[in-house]
Amino acid sequence: MQFGIAGAGFSGAVMARELAQAGHQVTVHESRGHVGGNCHTERDPDTGIMVHRYGPHIFHTGNERVWKYINDFGTMQPYNHRVFSTIGGKVYSLPVNLLTINQLFGRTLDPEQARDFISEQSDSSITDPRNFEEQALSMMGRPLYETFFLGYTRKQWGLEPTQIPASVLRRLPLRFTYEDSYFAHPYQAIPREGYTAIVERMLDDPRIEVHLSSPFDPDQHDRFDHTIWTGPLDAWFGHRFGRLGYRTLDFEEIRAEGDLQGCAVMNYGDLDVPFTRISEHKHFAPWEQHDKTVAFREFSRLAGEDDIPYYPVRLAQDKSLLQTYLDAAGQEPRVTFAGRLGTYRYLDMDVTIADALDAANIMQRAIRARDRI
Ligand code: UDP
Repeated sequence: MQFGIAGAGFSGAVMARELAQAGHQVTVHESRGHVGGNCHTERDPDTGIMVHRYGPHIFHTGNERVWKYINDFGTMQPYNHRVFSTIGGKVYSLPVNLLTINQLFGRTLDPEQARDFISEQSDSSITDPRNFEEQALSMMGRPLYETFFLGYTRKQWGLEPTQIPASVLRRLPLRFTYEDSYFAHPYQAIPREGYTAIVERMLDDPRIEVHLSSPFDPDQHDRFDHTIWTGPLDAWFGHRFGRLGYRTLDFEEIRAEGDLQGCAVMNYGDLDVPFTRISEHKHFAPWEQHDKTVAFREFSRLAGEDDIPYYPVRLAQDKSLLQTYLDAAGQEPRVTFAGRLGTYRYLDMDVTIADALDAANIMQRAIRARDRI
């Protein structure tokens, strides 16, 4: 069969690979001049530092299958991600752990004391949190929430935390130990040669043709037996029911000698600091040596029509519009919608890869079933 794929991020590349390996012809159209989507990495020409062009990406997973899969395409260097937060002139450890609690409250609590102390502050009347704020109040109480989450979340989402789904906060753990690894997954790594090299290897197959700087035109999808769309779900339909909301990011570059901040990511929780975080990219590759440094201040705002979409907003109104688009997508038997943009979900890389592998399997089973008829 002939497949057309719109987008060469992880979703598009994994599905292209799987379908090509099963003997199908695949044509990938990518609107940008590189593959890898928002995971794109490249070496900074001045310093040689591997820069995550669209913001930091740390690969982490508990899924053995996905871990094995990605390791087939490059060397995944174990990397332990740590994040700090500067608030009110002080530096704290994140995600919220025993050190953070003792730092904020000026205490020397042990794990059990800290658990009791936080449970006294948390709101036990909230049994089924309906939004980010309720989730935070029930999980950790007001002081931790207001210090670490309220300002940052307003800046990151441009919304009140009461308007944001509880699931956004559930991405982060609350720990009563000094474990400060940002992620809890058993496999955490960064590709030695960057994500783009991994995606290039996925796409390196004689049955895959990749066209860069070549947007996929939905009106032309009849050229293919089946299309996989990993662009924004609403863009496939020409935004005919309205626009789904996305946050986009602006980056302000900082160059310096030596070390700027001593860590990969420093968050800024204060509302009067306009950026959310600074990422210093040589710290994503501590196995490399660089005398100079390059870092980026990150600013979040609502995406305009020509901006790169990063985060689906998923407000109440987005959800009903999303349902309209999902219903419309269900009426397109020759199109599969995939990935963070194509399904309008806040997906991490490992889930994106797992979903793409599953979708490719389902398609192949459907093709085999049809061929048997
Ligand atoms: N968050 C926060 N303060 C922080 C870090 C995170 O309020 O210092 C909130 C914020 O709303 C963010 C969410 O927690 O969107 C999830 O954080 P995560 O680190 O997963 O965000 P990402 O790295 O995907 O932007």
